[in-house]
Amino acid sequence: MSQAPRYVIETFGCQMNVHDSQRMEDALRAHGWVAAEGEHDADLIVLNTCSVREKAEHKLRSEVGRLRPLKRGRPDLVVAVAGCVAQQEGEKLLRAIPHLDVVVGPDNLAELPLLAETIRNGGPPVARTVFDLDRPTFLSGGTHEAVHEKGVCAFVTTMKGCDERCSFCVVPYTRGPERYRPLDEIVDEVRTLVARGVREVTLLGQTVNSWMPPEVLDVSTSSHDQSPSMRASSSHFATLLRTIAREVPALGRLRYTSPHPRHLTAELIDAHGELPVLARHLHLPVQSGSDRMLKRMIRRYTREAYLERVNALRARVPGLTLSTDVIVGFPGETDDDFAHTLSLVREAGFVALFGFKFSPRPFTPALKLADDVPEAVKDERLAALFAAVAVQQQAHLASLVDSTVTVLIEGESRPNLTRQAKFPTRVMGRTERNEIVHLDVQAGRDPSPLVGRFLEVRVSQANAHSLVGALAEADVRDLPEARAEPPKARRSLTIVSEG
Ligand code: SF4
Repeated sequence: MSQAPRYVIETFGCQMNVHDSQRMEDALRAHGWVAAEGEHDADLIVLNTCSVREKAEHKLRSEVGRLRPLKRGRPDLVVAVAGCVAQQEGEKLLRAIPHLDVVVGPDNLAELPLLAETIRNGGPPVARTVFDLDRPTFLSGGTHEAVHEKGVCAFVTTMKGCDERCSFCVVPYTRGPERYRPLDEIVDEVRTLVARGVREVTLLGQTVNSWMPPEVLDVSTSSHDQSPSMRASSSHFATLLRTIAREVPALGRLRYTSPHPRHLTAELIDAHGELPVLARHLHLPVQSGSDRMLKRMIRRYTREAYLERVNALRARVPGLTLSTDVIVGFPGETDDDFAHTLSLVREAGFVALFGFKFSPRPFTPALKLADDVPEAVKDERLAALFAAVAVQQQAHLASLVDSTVTVLIEGESRPNLTRQAKFPTRVMGRTERNEIVHLDVQAGRDPSPLVGRFLEVRVSQANAHSLVGALAEADVRDLPEARAEPPKARRSLTIVSEG
């Protein structure tokens, strides 16, 4: 009997790409593929790419180049590039990289097994980068047994594409226009995942809170005709959240990412106040605290409107934590503009932040603006931003020492060589406010029964980015004996970077 073909997927970029990689994995497994140990024994290597920042794109090009000798030694190996760079460059990639076999865009991931098989049977290199505009399909994560390996947290796609067209962003060009998944399909996937042991679901979309039922979009000439804006108070997305809460009562925790501030309407804020299943944390990208920059970025809100929304949300959900994305060094950004960003970071009280230096991206309006902020100034501003948030994060984490928090245990913490012999194992989880909590497990105990449980934990220590807590005696008393050997790390999915 011939051996099943093996794959490796390496992922660059955002949560959306991580989710796409999982869907590719599901599609390959459904066609008889199995995870390889590593590149050395893979029959297919997929690089799932990101083009949001220039750095991510450079990384991809060097990764593909690194595979050249491997392909030369094993001509049967299939090398594929998926994701946003694949969509952006299309066939050009095949011409530029002779050892590349498959280029597959985000809307064509389900075709990957067939494309790989065609190459293995001697077919020519192929590029598939067609947007499914007429009948959009959404790959479900609840249909395949691979879900069992992904633990207690899962992502569920609600929409694809983006209509916002922020002036710095390539996503509307690589992911296409907004298309929404039907409500029933989303609720069904959440229900299936929960029935399989998932406790926390994160709804995914480029502007997840602009979601609307596809039938609403069908009768509109443009999604923005019906889309709730900063001025409107309604929210189809709030209806989706309420429906999930009602139809899947066994769901332990619900998050969503990434919302656009202008779609954080009064009704959505009300839903946060009403639904206990919604986590008390929101990642709400702001990008800049300067109105002049927000206008140039075409973000369609002002600093004041952003803060107004955040304050309304906090009034409805006391103690809610916020994180954000910020770009420094956007064309024309002065010291004064950046000072406005720093002051907004303090005023909004973010406890985490992803900061990026502006880099011009193909097709975007900002490409036409002079990239006039020197690299050294961008570096300085980024460092100042991180320092400001670090102070706030530290103060927030320190304020939790000696309090009791509810932690959903996700799995074992990364190995730490300096760990005491008495506590060789640590599990980690997150609170509803997204604080990461590590918990020591006594030597000789197997912590796996804790995974998927919500535990009440006393916080004993605050680290720079996480908390340490103590497990209650009752939670560890019945844990079985530790395994003789720790399980092998799974190598099929490598997360190379966060977006
Ligand atoms: S909202 Fe703006 S930054 Fe976000 S994906 Fe759309 S265009 Fe890009």
